[in-house]
Amino acid sequence: MARVAVVTGGTRGIGQAISVALKKKGFRVAANYGGNDTAARQFQADTGIPVYKWDVSDYAACEKGVASVTRELGAIDVLVNNAGITRDGMLHRMTKESWDAVMHTNLDSVFNMSRLVIEGMRNRKYGRIVNISSINGRKGQMGQANYSAAKAALLGFTKAVAQENAARGVTVNVIAPGYIGTEMVAAMPKDVLDTKVLPLIPVGRLGTVEEIARCVTFLADEEAGFITGACLDANGGQYMA
Ligand code: NDP
Repeated sequence: MARVAVVTGGTRGIGQAISVALKKKGFRVAANYGGNDTAARQFQADTGIPVYKWDVSDYAACEKGVASVTRELGAIDVLVNNAGITRDGMLHRMTKESWDAVMHTNLDSVFNMSRLVIEGMRNRKYGRIVNISSINGRKGQMGQANYSAAKAALLGFTKAVAQENAARGVTVNVIAPGYIGTEMVAAMPKDVLDTKVLPLIPVGRLGTVEEIARCVTFLADEEAGFITGACLDANGGQYMA
């Protein structure tokens, strides 16, 4: 029986590539999303991967979502906590709403989803949790106190939960992507990209969503059982921790 993988924010951007790559590796994939029904419908039509709409920042909604996936596809073996948002602004201008939105969606979501699958994984003595952080959680980024804080918190969460579950066959790891050529980054003015972003990346280009998806399939594999509590930096050499 194929293992079941849930990808939060799995219908667009990096998450879309993760969902597709896991499907190619033989997983039964559930792609979660938050609100963009048009993109989700198109993704499902293009890939044949079922989509599930719920707000990952809402614990009760996650409970219902996890229950639907389990009922329809089976017990969850792989959880990829990928959903994330930015609400950028310097701290001296940042609103409480921007802070809360980023914390709820990028950090509370990881507690919500992991809490709901961890007991089953422990009982079955197998599981893979992969959290998607960011280079900006590693090094900090001006204008992103909220996002950098939430993404840095994922590193501590990962290490703690990795220790708690190592003896139960459950690995917990984190990936910290650098600048990836998603719609968001591609929408930057070309001169800003050429003069401000690319010169910081020794590899000399943006990463691709497929390159991040490959990190996930590596860590989600049964054969990656000796890797836990690790942070995999995929940033073209921009930041070496
Ligand atoms: P996108 O904005 O392209 O996609 C985000 C996905 O998350 C969408 O599927 C979206 O759903 C979903 N989502 C957002 N909020 C919620 C919510 N409350 N509940 C459920 N789903 C939600 O993001 P990226 O692909 O750019 O980023 C993916 C992850 O990678 C994020 O965690 C981001 O922080 C991280 N990252 C991205 C980098 C980049 O260069 N792009 C660099 C480093 C890290 P919907 O379609 O419904 O809106």
